[in-house]
Amino acid sequence: MSRPGTSLLLDNVGELVTNDPEGTAPADDRDVWALGVRRDAAVVLAGGRIAWIGPASAAPAADARVDCGGRALLPGFVDSHAHLVFAGDRAREYAARMSGRRYATGGIRTTVASTRAASDDELRANVADLVGELLRSGVTTFEVKSGYGLTVDDEARSCRLAAEVTDEVTFLGAHVVPPEWAGDRGGYLDLLTGPMLAAAAPFARWADVFVERGAFDAVEAHVLLERAAAAGLGLRVHANQLGPGPGAALAAAHGAASADHCTHLSRTDIRTLAESGTVATLLPAAELGTRSAFPDARRLLRAGATVALATDCNPGTSYTTSMPLCIALAVSLMRMTPAEALWAATAGGAAALRRSDVGHLVVDGPADVVLLDAPSHVHLAYRPGVDLVAGVWRAGTRVPPRSRLEP
Ligand SMILES: [Zn+2]
Repeated sequence: MSRPGTSLLLDNVGELVTNDPEGTAPADDRDVWALGVRRDAAVVLAGGRIAWIGPASAAPAADARVDCGGRALLPGFVDSHAHLVFAGDRAREYAARMSGRRYATGGIRTTVASTRAASDDELRANVADLVGELLRSGVTTFEVKSGYGLTVDDEARSCRLAAEVTDEVTFLGAHVVPPEWAGDRGGYLDLLTGPMLAAAAPFARWADVFVERGAFDAVEAHVLLERAAAAGLGLRVHANQLGPGPGAALAAAHGAASADHCTHLSRTDIRTLAESGTVATLLPAAELGTRSAFPDARRLLRAGATVALATDCNPGTSYTTSMPLCIALAVSLMRMTPAEALWAATAGGAAALRRSDVGHLVVDGPADVVLLDAPSHVHLAYRPGVDLVAGVWRAGTRVPPRSRLEP
């Protein structure tokens, strides 16, 4: 445990992934080199920061020591896409979908009704449970979206509750048009880009729009993105999830930090993303949860696009907080290498949040680290479904293990 004023030596690290390849020996593969792997290393955490990185043989003394026993130590995962402020679940809808019904955007409205009916404390408790899951799965930085309130007060409330657990709050009033506005889309757009945006913006860093048939079209999204940028928010876009569409191109044209999903991209979309500063964030647990075809990450990587992996944790299509699962899916079903998938879940996520402080391990950077019960990061994909996260330190403080219910 490292408290301010104390130091912790993580000693005897078999494989230290830093995502900082400067000064490391060239690897056979560029994707592996990018991880900045150091063998037989040690790390000292102090005052919430990384105080020292070097060979285990030269490790300095510290107030406490953990013998990592040759295991792998990684930067904490960065989950750049999660919908955590909601009430209720949609297990029945999931079961129905797995019995043959197709996913449509309308299911979001079920969660909107439960969320509006919930108290602040109910929502807060649900967020806390999910944040606990994220932390224990090794996620040390995470984004949280609103989008299940869809009234001025409920969206402001969702952003306010999200801001209690993260700095990376995203206003997603443009999730779907709520049922009470179904006959007046223009009226909802005025509300969304006027009073709702104004009420949510003080709690948010980002604004997002779901560009999809059944959600928002390109013209509507354009208006939202313009107004959100004018309100000082950074931009993100739910793009090209259920079919080809204008989302990814719109994200790039507006200088959005990320285009998320990117399941159905044209060659032009891929070139546009690669030439832009917009990160392509892939959410393979959403394909898993909707029994859909997975995006081909290889095409994006070959074109030179920056790729991130995120959980998309939400009660409708991707009810998971497990970044290791996303890594395993990315490798097995999206043709990423284990090294690319780990980079995308750490440095890629940081890029999608335009954060230069997290997603890598450097001296003076935040002490956000994950210890695996495995000798190599490759095991995250190689051993799918096995809980390999042996320890997580966030800002130098160890994340407590799950507290079990009393029998
Ligand atoms: Zn989403």
